[in-house]
Amino acid sequence: MNNEVMREVILKPGKEKSLLRFHPWIFSGAIAKIPSNPIEGEFFTILSSEAQFLAIGFYQKGSIAFRVVSFANVPLDISFWKKKLQSAIDYRIKCGLFNNPQFDCFRLIHREGDGFPSLICGWYNGVVVMQAHASGMYLLLPSLAEIIKELLPNDVKAIYNKSEHSLAFVNGEKTSNHWMYREEKEVTVHEYGVKYVIDIEGGQKTGFFLDQRENRKLLMQYVNGKKVLNTFSYSGGFSLAAIQAGAAFAQSVDSSAKAIELCERNARINEVDSIRHQAICEDVMAHLQSLDNSFEVMIVDPPAYAKHLDAVDHALKGYIRLNRRAMEKIFKPGILFTFSCSQVVSAVQFRQAVFSAGVQAGIQLKVLHQLHQPADHPVNLYHPEGEYLKGQYRDWE
Ligand code: SAH
Repeated sequence: MNNEVMREVILKPGKEKSLLRFHPWIFSGAIAKIPSNPIEGEFFTILSSEAQFLAIGFYQKGSIAFRVVSFANVPLDISFWKKKLQSAIDYRIKCGLFNNPQFDCFRLIHREGDGFPSLICGWYNGVVVMQAHASGMYLLLPSLAEIIKELLPNDVKAIYNKSEHSLAFVNGEKTSNHWMYREEKEVTVHEYGVKYVIDIEGGQKTGFFLDQRENRKLLMQYVNGKKVLNTFSYSGGFSLAAIQAGAAFAQSVDSSAKAIELCERNARINEVDSIRHQAICEDVMAHLQSLDNSFEVMIVDPPAYAKHLDAVDHALKGYIRLNRRAMEKIFKPGILFTFSCSQVVSAVQFRQAVFSAGVQAGIQLKVLHQLHQPADHPVNLYHPEGEYLKGQYRDWE
């Protein structure tokens, strides 16, 4: 915990504006003066060109030089972090996420949306998986883990630091994945009547795509008796939700052999047989190419196609190609459940891409739902970049 006197950073004239509107990032080009040898993860007091206090943030090499943790001039002691964590927990209690009979997994901390820039944290039936994407949070993880244990004394079963892939180095030193409290390599969770094995150490992200929970539930309304294709399926979330809701058949497609293995395991623990579910390890575009026109519902949930602004045009072309191919192959009238999780692609741009795909495929489309990330992935209103998951549920005549 940082109790020392913080060094100061001075911004260029005019660059205080976004901070006065509570935007929590400071780009390197906004900085007029920074002390020598800043250490990654070090907390600084951020001042305007006129020496007015603006915020406290931590340093990271790269284009986002500082991430703000406080817009008030307060000490960053244990009680500061405890209050922040308590508020993330209280919010989730208010949203009905804890002790919910319908699911026992959700996101416990969501980045800037909870005031922890670059930190995500999954809750899997008491097993906590923490993933830092920047050094300030990585260095704090041991202290945050202690506070989480203290605030949820009867609930926390184990805590894992899974940051090695999201943040390879801090100040030149390699980061590592490791258990910070007890060890629980696998945990079985449930969500809307379906069981899922979470491979904590080997799974993608923090283990599961928690952000699609409410969209998996929505899908359940539309699949009774239908044939469902789940592309980019990972561990089979949408497929098993569909079968639980009465789908006649679901096919899961993912290019990762490990994901397909998990998907098959999940089918087994839910006692779903091969007549109702099939998992295929293949590239989605190649799979769509060879497909017949019998699938009435399709889910298209690719990984982020653009991670940076300069990749947006390329990503949009990718979304058009992919959605066009899905639209050509779906049984008509059908339902397409399509997503972008690229933070830098706006909802308007994504809608335009799906529109273009529809025109190219020569079909009429209507939007049934606009889809988003759920409440445990809150968006900080002053940080619109946090609204990363956009989706549309479409059908046509
Ligand atoms: N819908 C899933 C999450 C999808 S994440 C859920 O609800 O759990 C994206 C997935 O796409 C990953 O599992 C990744 O392995 C897979 N993937 C990435 N590129 C692919 C490609 N070209 N073809 C098939 N799968 C791909």
